[in-house]
Amino acid sequence: MKIITVLAALSLCACADDSTNKKMETADKAPEQPTQPVKKTDAEWRKELTPEQYHVLREAGTERANGPIYKEFKKQGAGTYYCGGCDAELFSSKEKFDSGCGWPSFYDPANAKNVKTSTDYKIGYARTEVLCAVCDGHLGHVFTGEGFDTPTDKRYCINGVALKFVPEGEKPENKAAKEPKNGE
Ligand SMILES: [Zn+2]
Repeated sequence: MKIITVLAALSLCACADDSTNKKMETADKAPEQPTQPVKKTDAEWRKELTPEQYHVLREAGTERANGPIYKEFKKQGAGTYYCGGCDAELFSSKEKFDSGCGWPSFYDPANAKNVKTSTDYKIGYARTEVLCAVCDGHLGHVFTGEGFDTPTDKRYCINGVALKFVPEGEKPENKAAKEPKNGE
């Protein structure tokens, strides 16, 4: 039997705000990416996220250094890191490096358009907060010019609990069918 692949011609609408010149990517492996901002009520986030995820993503909390997630992170091979809140692609193992700081570190976001920054003064001096641009979830902070031998000399210091790792070649689990990962 012949399988016919129908390629739907995408009619590009002449949207007024097409200033971003979006690129359509058709990688087979890519998960369903949120295409517009993800906005949820506080109650919805509380229901969807674990208490730790909620604390980091929605309350700009920080997980403790060298926690179990970080140990796992260090062992992870090639793959992609998605937002724990909305599944947007954030970082990849290609930009991962061992900074020794106790939190997952990347020298660049894999998908820059999904990562944004803002300045916070929570601890008395300016730090650059890193957020998911799609759901506004807090991810961590970025530090520059620390002397790391990486192409950018930036350290995206990211809470592991805010990330969802998907090994290369695997599809991320469907959010709707998400089950708590209990007991191993
Ligand atoms: Zn997000």
